[in-house]
Amino acid sequence: ILELVDVYKTFDDLTVLKGCNLRVKKKETVVLIGPSGSGKSTLLRCINLLEPPSKGSVVFEGHEVSGDLRGADKLRRDIGMVFQNFELFQHLSAVENIMLAPMKVLGMSKADAHDLGLELLRKVHIPERADHFPDELSGGQQQRVAIARALAMRPKIMLYDEPTSALDPEMIREVLDVMTELSNEGMTTVCVTHEMGFARRAADRIVFMEDGCILEDAATEEFFGGRANERAQKFLSQIL
Ligand code: ATP
Ligand code: MG
Repeated sequence: ILELVDVYKTFDDLTVLKGCNLRVKKKETVVLIGPSGSGKSTLLRCINLLEPPSKGSVVFEGHEVSGDLRGADKLRRDIGMVFQNFELFQHLSAVENIMLAPMKVLGMSKADAHDLGLELLRKVHIPERADHFPDELSGGQQQRVAIARALAMRPKIMLYDEPTSALDPEMIREVLDVMTELSNEGMTTVCVTHEMGFARRAADRIVFMEDGCILEDAATEEFFGGRANERAQKFLSQIL
């Protein structure tokens, strides 16, 4: 469903991605790991063209999308993204956060958008929080609203950038559980995380990045079975 071909990204004179190749099949879940500054967030942002690649191409559903950035808005409808810091609209309630894009972008009626919002809040297990504002929700609840908001556009891929790293330990699980459920239902997923329990449970493949390069791309069992390359093993031993 998605392919990055020889993607480079340069900021001024700093080359952050140095020829990355990645293929993600429909329904696959890929976990992306690597040291701080290795380019994980940048790679993720290249997928939905939040950062246009300096060189190389992004292919989505068989079409090259990186050549003409006028298609980026449409692409971002098909690719949902969830960030570390939730980034909810503070002045909108949980359900209103979810309703906004379907109404504005898809022209959905308020009533239909509200129904959809409630359905998605049920999916992330907080239907009773519909009318709460972000500052009345725990971090775990806010992140689940952010996931529901991304799902409202019926995306074909979900991207997560360290979705639990701003959360207190007791809230990490509830967010990872929702992500695991979505993954098991067949949502195509690319996730940057250091939660190796989630990676083992949900990922089909683990991709290890270092210094702008993908150094390892292995099936989850192989990766954790000690068959990852030396750099990846070393990194793994540091975070476990
Ligand atoms: P972390 O684990 O800390 O989130 P990361 O692997 O996600 O790290 P990136 O955020 O992709 O790493 O950053 C890779 C490098 O690119 C860093 O050196 C960073 O300073 C640089 N960088 C990222 N975004 C920009 C930008 N917009 N302008 C200039 N440099 C940037
Ligand atoms: Mg990052």
